[in-house]
Amino acid sequence: MKVVIALGSNLGDRKGTLDEAVEELRKIITITKVSSYIETDPVGGPEQPDYLNAVLIGESELSPTDLLSTMQEIELAAGRERIERWGARTLDLDLIVYGDLVMETEFLTLPHPRAHERRFVLDPWLEVEPGAYLPGFGEVGLLP
Ligand code: ATP
Ligand code: CA
Ligand code: CA
Repeated sequence: MKVVIALGSNLGDRKGTLDEAVEELRKIITITKVSSYIETDPVGGPEQPDYLNAVLIGESELSPTDLLSTMQEIELAAGRERIERWGARTLDLDLIVYGDLVMETEFLTLPHPRAHERRFVLDPWLEVEPGAYLPGFGEVGLLP
């Protein structure tokens, strides 16, 4: 299934962490595109350093929940600690879409419920997929 994953880091060696995360993700999905890494201002949460953000597109054989758990293991391996919601972190991996799947459980909502309003997700996504489509929201290029 086609998957879109958003990566973010705002602590430590941000570029090294994103590079490493892409390599780890390459072990479990077939990556077809990786966007540039863009520097972005933090949105919401406490005052914290700027982020380095990126989006990648891949093909996954894993179920959505198995993919998310593996992504969370990669976050932990990158030294992520949960301190406060939306606070600074070495690595954040969000599953933006999994094919056309629309679902909502306690652990996983697809598409990601806030992706549609986040330029730091939409812009790098459009860079690697100009015709990107967000199920339930429409063409990414037409979102405000
Ligand atoms: P935001 O979700 O607003 O980007 P965040 O990334 O800081 O905030 P986390 O603390 O990383 O939030 O994740 C909180 C929970 O969100 C995770 O435990 C996970 O179960 C859940 N979650 C639900 N849907 C998704 C998704 N599509 N991708 C990643 N995590 C998700
Ligand atoms: Ca996030
Ligand atoms: Ca997250």
